[in-house]
Amino acid sequence: MPTNHALEFPGGYTRSVGPVIGRFLSELRDGKLVGVRAESGRVVFPPLEYDPANGHSVTDEFVEVGPGGVVESFAWVAEPLASHPLDRPFAWALIRPDGADTAILHALDVGELARGAEAPKRLRIGMRVRPDFLPATERIGDIADIRAFRPDVTMITAPSRLEYDIKPGRALDRFLEGVSEGRILGHRCPVCAKVIVPMKGLCPKDGVPTTEEVEVSHTGTVTTFAVNNLPDPRAPEVPFVSAYVLLDGSDIAMVALVSGIPADQVRMGMRVRAVWKPREEWGRTITNIRWFEPIDEPDVPFESIAEYM
Ligand SMILES: [Zn+2]
Repeated sequence: MPTNHALEFPGGYTRSVGPVIGRFLSELRDGKLVGVRAESGRVVFPPLEYDPANGHSVTDEFVEVGPGGVVESFAWVAEPLASHPLDRPFAWALIRPDGADTAILHALDVGELARGAEAPKRLRIGMRVRPDFLPATERIGDIADIRAFRPDVTMITAPSRLEYDIKPGRALDRFLEGVSEGRILGHRCPVCAKVIVPMKGLCPKDGVPTTEEVEVSHTGTVTTFAVNNLPDPRAPEVPFVSAYVLLDGSDIAMVALVSGIPADQVRMGMRVRAVWKPREEWGRTITNIRWFEPIDEPDVPFESIAEYM
């Protein structure tokens, strides 16, 4: 592992923008990573005019790679300099996007974890990362359009309402098709066998595509919850409770409203059932489920839900 190398931010790509690098930077501005195919068939990323392996000219075939990738090596920077792209501890890392045969040097940001002494221990060769692009309107066709790479999310901690406002991908679209028929669908991961609801087409733990569809129960268990005191037109009257509900048959808790019980009586481990809106009000939206209400079953012991927090 490099420790004392003078690694410099690769702003040098902007020095001479030939057609190959120009294409790379233009695609970068559009939020995409492209490499170029070498005569040998290897995909050189970031693209260069010459294959670094043998000096031969590359072909004119550009190949979209990533955006996810793996860390091939890294060097922890405990005390960033003013010239560094991040003002908190981070790592310089060689990152090889999926589909590429070479790696890019870029900053790896582990977020607020970086301030803890544990941060470097959480980094490892082979860990999955993805680029954190600047917002589209701020990208200018520069390597710094990628603010940094970040580790893949390994636990879903905030599948908040935002998720349902974004343009749904195919998997989420299918989930919404399910709720438009009164069904709650998920995907089973082929690696860890966990059932992910709502499915995203990808296991957040293993980073592999998921396709096996599973229908889960409308009953579940409150794992954690929050009492809200700010009114929300979609929610019960304040104070109301939003909770993570682990549906029976699923392995990842989903965010939902809880009603039918005073907020101060909601408990971790409480058993609940989905209350659907009247059928004539259903659309392709998660809000077909109005909220969850308690059912007359004993609470689930904390130990059996602890791993789903
Ligand atoms: Zn998995």
